[in-house]
Amino acid sequence: MTEYKESILLIEDEPQMRRFIRLILQGHGYNVVEAETGGKGLSEAASRNPDVILLDLGLPDIDGLEVTRRLREWTNVPIIVISAREKELDKVTALDEGADDYLIKPFGSGELLARIRVAMRHRAMQRSGQKESVVSAGDLKIDFSKRQVFLSGQEVHLTPIEYKLLSLLAGNAGKVLTHSQMLKEVWGANYAQQTQYLRVYMTQLRHKLEADPARPRFLINEPGIGYRFKADL
Ligand code: CA
Repeated sequence: MTEYKESILLIEDEPQMRRFIRLILQGHGYNVVEAETGGKGLSEAASRNPDVILLDLGLPDIDGLEVTRRLREWTNVPIIVISAREKELDKVTALDEGADDYLIKPFGSGELLARIRVAMRHRAMQRSGQKESVVSAGDLKIDFSKRQVFLSGQEVHLTPIEYKLLSLLAGNAGKVLTHSQMLKEVWGANYAQQTQYLRVYMTQLRHKLEADPARPRFLINEPGIGYRFKADL
């Protein structure tokens, strides 16, 4: 009997970067398929059906943003963008185009593996068609089926918008959501630019849920990009 190995497609043009990532991932039991161009990446994605794609944004043939767009035409496989670019806009654009997360070069093995674990978890949920009914993070518990939030066992009253915002983040635990994704989901497509709404409501949520709102443990800010809910995974 052969053991199923989760497979990762690595689309990256720098050989040293590929080698670095390959060694870490193989060392942790993942099957790694490599592509050094966007074109090859797209065809490998189609023929191999990987569990997760790691995608460099700066590729020699097709830009990583374009690769993301083309992948999203037919697959919802988790995409983690890896980028050396300082420009926040590229990361945000990639996330808005449907990438799930990002890593900034240089990154360490711990960070890489943590992001892969979150992505694999989302992949498994997609495949089983299931959604979690409860998400926990420290003293905080969100019960989606009952639409209730508990802090150290005590129910916390949230306004409808606060609940929508929290359940959106917690339902995507571990994954970064961009400002515009959150605004569209919670307020609607016409509100995608109203980041001040988010600031106000995220501040309220932190005051209700975080022991120290200035140093949040669950409701994490990703400066210039969005927010991430840090759950116990
Ligand atoms: Ca590159």
